[in-house]
Amino acid sequence: MSPAGPWFAKTLLTGLLPIVCLAGLVWALHGPAAGWAAAALAFMLVVVVQTRRLAVLLAWLDSPGSAGFPDTGGAWGDVFLRLSRKLRHDARTLEAVEARLRSFRDAMDAVPDGLVILDASHRIQWHNRAAEAHLGIRLPRDTGAIIEQLVRTPGFADYLGSPDPTASFLLQSAALRTRVYALRVVPLGEQHKLLVSLDVTDARRVESMRSEFVANVSHELRTPLTVVSGFLEHFADEGTMSADQRLHFARLMSDQTARMLSLVDDLLTLSRLEAEDAPASEEDVDMADLLAQLLSEGQSLSEGRHRLAVSCRGPALRGDRKELHSAFGNLVSNAIRYTPAGGAIAIEWTLRDGNGMFSVRDSGVGIAAQHLPRLTERFYRVDRGRSRDTGGTGLGLAIVKHILLRHQATLAIESQVGEGSTFCAEFPAWRLKSEV
Ligand code: ADP
Repeated sequence: MSPAGPWFAKTLLTGLLPIVCLAGLVWALHGPAAGWAAAALAFMLVVVVQTRRLAVLLAWLDSPGSAGFPDTGGAWGDVFLRLSRKLRHDARTLEAVEARLRSFRDAMDAVPDGLVILDASHRIQWHNRAAEAHLGIRLPRDTGAIIEQLVRTPGFADYLGSPDPTASFLLQSAALRTRVYALRVVPLGEQHKLLVSLDVTDARRVESMRSEFVANVSHELRTPLTVVSGFLEHFADEGTMSADQRLHFARLMSDQTARMLSLVDDLLTLSRLEAEDAPASEEDVDMADLLAQLLSEGQSLSEGRHRLAVSCRGPALRGDRKELHSAFGNLVSNAIRYTPAGGAIAIEWTLRDGNGMFSVRDSGVGIAAQHLPRLTERFYRVDRGRSRDTGGTGLGLAIVKHILLRHQATLAIESQVGEGSTFCAEFPAWRLKSEV
């Protein structure tokens, strides 16, 4: 039986039975006319009571939470009880739905890509937090705003009007000019669109570094190759050259070939260093021995044009000897190449605050402050001509940086134009062999 069955029986009994009983009693005592009158009166009383309870129900329905549910008793009491149960159930369902919505919103806000839902006329319906940063929109201020009026980059409105599913629209951030976003539009149901924005700044930077690197390498190789191929053409034309000229050209070609070889060697070294983070080996490197080797190599490169001095006042250094030799050798060779004849170069290994300090100080041409942060970039040169004339590949300091990184060391450069430079590599204390 449906729950309404017993309720109907109960209402009938509690509502009609007293009227019938009362009317019967009056009828018996005072005759039929009085009985009918009593029945009519009792019926009217029931109608008034029920109407009043209906009014209470309406008032309660207007603000059900304000004061519990009214205890009217009788059949109306059941109605109130059931209504109240239903309202409590609905409130719990609503809470659960709201909690789910909140966690969905939190998840959407955690997504690093920007998401904006647009209606048919491109009014913003909803967006996540990343979209605020990418597109410069704000809720609730911009809810309902037309997105083309907020993102005013030329071409954006056209793209949004007829988006190309195979291409994205590139947008430069209005707030941070350095950031670039790729926008895509995905249809959402019949009327809506989902605008997705992706931060592609880093990917584009890597891509531009890659193409810049390829362009640099090609340029570096092209110059000596052009020279060599020019000489080879002369060589083919046997009659026009004396033996001395031939010898001279052969020497120049050999210089250019050596330049290409050292560039290729440096490129291979760099790519090997970039492939892994740790030194190739860990050994105790005798620094006095390494410094003596650096001094003798420096002297042969200088050919007596500079005064070179070494000072070793620190313990053995833990690392890969070949790599450390290459990094320190690059610093010494730079000091010689960028110091005019008669200058002085000091190579030192010492302790500072418990850390190991390798430094090369020269009295050379020096470097203007604005170049210092970029010196370790591949192919970055202050004076391109001087670098090439002295056999530089533009990769020396990039190699130094990578080797030091693999040894957890840092590079500090101090320099004054016309006065000289000091390159300092600082190694952490745990890389030093403790002297017992
Ligand atoms: P390069 O092969 O051109 O020397 P590096 O990467 O070794 O390439 O150095 C990058 C640039 O830093 C050089 O071109 C030069 O301009 C500058 N530089 C490096 N060392 C010194 C130094 N000791 N004195 C002055 N300039 C230097």
